[in-house]
Amino acid sequence: MNANIYALFRARFPSDLDDCWLETSDGLYYSWRDLERGSAKIANLFASLNLPAGARIAAQVEKSPEALMLYLATVRAGFVYLPLNTAYRAAEMAYFIENASPSVVVCSPKNFGWVAQTAFARGTSHIFTLDEPVQGRNSGSLLSRAVHFGDRFETVHRDGDDLAAILYTSGTTGRSKGAMLTHGNLASNIAVLHDAWHWQKGDVLLHTLPLFHIHGLFVAAHGALYNGSKMMFLSKFDSAAVIQHLPRSTIFMGVPTYYVRMLADPAFHRDQCAAMRLFVSGSAPLLADTFAQFAQRSGHSILERYGMSETAMLTSNPYIGKRKPGTVGPALTGVSVRVVNAEGVSCASGEVGEIQVKGPNVFQGYWQMPEKTAEEFTDDAYFKTGDVGFFDDDLYLTIVGRSKDLIITGGYNVYPKEIEAIIDELPGVLESAVIGVPHPDFGEAVIAVVVPRASAALSEQAIIQTLKNAIANFKVPKHVHVVKELPRNTMGKVQKNLLREQFSA
Ligand code: AMP
Repeated sequence: MNANIYALFRARFPSDLDDCWLETSDGLYYSWRDLERGSAKIANLFASLNLPAGARIAAQVEKSPEALMLYLATVRAGFVYLPLNTAYRAAEMAYFIENASPSVVVCSPKNFGWVAQTAFARGTSHIFTLDEPVQGRNSGSLLSRAVHFGDRFETVHRDGDDLAAILYTSGTTGRSKGAMLTHGNLASNIAVLHDAWHWQKGDVLLHTLPLFHIHGLFVAAHGALYNGSKMMFLSKFDSAAVIQHLPRSTIFMGVPTYYVRMLADPAFHRDQCAAMRLFVSGSAPLLADTFAQFAQRSGHSILERYGMSETAMLTSNPYIGKRKPGTVGPALTGVSVRVVNAEGVSCASGEVGEIQVKGPNVFQGYWQMPEKTAEEFTDDAYFKTGDVGFFDDDLYLTIVGRSKDLIITGGYNVYPKEIEAIIDELPGVLESAVIGVPHPDFGEAVIAVVVPRASAALSEQAIIQTLKNAIANFKVPKHVHVVKELPRNTMGKVQKNLLREQFSA
């Protein structure tokens, strides 16, 4: 059997290929036949380039239906897809290109100058733009070249353990690493999510996430492809556009920031959600407050799930059954998730420890970093996620933070989330981030960075005083800084490394 992920999707396309595969916000319709033929043309173009086996095809392109076809054509042709965040600048791109040495780079015209310079210098043989031509040494626009190729292509045979993609981790704690995911990793995870979230006939996915990240590509887009479902495809999240398209959709997936923005839009109300079946959140922690407000406004309990580039999805609150705010739910079927203490012994329920995972979804290692890879796996082949959390009595997992964010002050462990949760409940507080900064006496000192609600005036002293009455003294922040907003990356994750840099002095 051909384990190529494209072959898996192809077998599940709707019987009528003229059905709508994807509708854009400009009202353009792409059929499943368009997808099949368009990806064939691009795959034929790649096949004509005499690329070495296992060649990487890197793409730093704006979100579009053609960008999604580019991904599918890459795997269809048996090559390895390497999506890159459109926000990356020259120095970052140089690192990725150097690290992954892609044979082909597809970039946006506005970045062409410096991407081309970097890529040619590092042995890339072909640089395309996706659709607009540019001046200078390049292979032209991918689409204008592909149009001359045939619209049939026999999907290249791949085994389950052949590489399909390399996803560079967001690197909020250090240098990005390329997580190698196989066709089998992706196939197993999407099959499990399909069942867990009860994908069904007639589902329409409202797709607003970026395509360069696991959430938008391997959870959202894959979910719709695997179910043969139409996507309402927005080029980016915009609450007005989402509100406009919700009534014709049944599933929405977002990062917590999207939900916060929907709630901040006075035009958002429950009538628009009448056809909706499921709202999913992930990639960063969803505040219990957001969960509660959203339930009140929309009538829907957001389903929070947990995963990462290295492992795809790991846990999910249940489709049927209690969705507990602040938790990421039990382990998905076929995925082993354990929480262990510093000695590697499984923790009792309620006890905080490191989250480790194993399963057919877990990646093959970091690209060209065998030592780093070896360090991140235990002797019994569990991957150390670097996240810290605990199970409750119902085996729902709560994530307390990244182990690198753990604060050790005067020898005591402080879990930022515990303190953040208390601060977030205080009147006038919108959200907070608790970090450790170097301290001559304690090693690290606890610091809180707090964002007020609109027009609320916060007193730093009052916050510290309230905390003194609520928690042990060693956990109470030495300083509280009030800021307008927390630094976040595109996936909505708070960049604590930036806060640590800013407040270390
Ligand atoms: P990425 O590889 O960019 O998807 O980042 C994965 C990391 O995001 C995980 O290791 C977690 O630290 C965090 N993360 C993902 N989903 C959640 C969630 N539902 N709640 C809290 N953190 C999450």
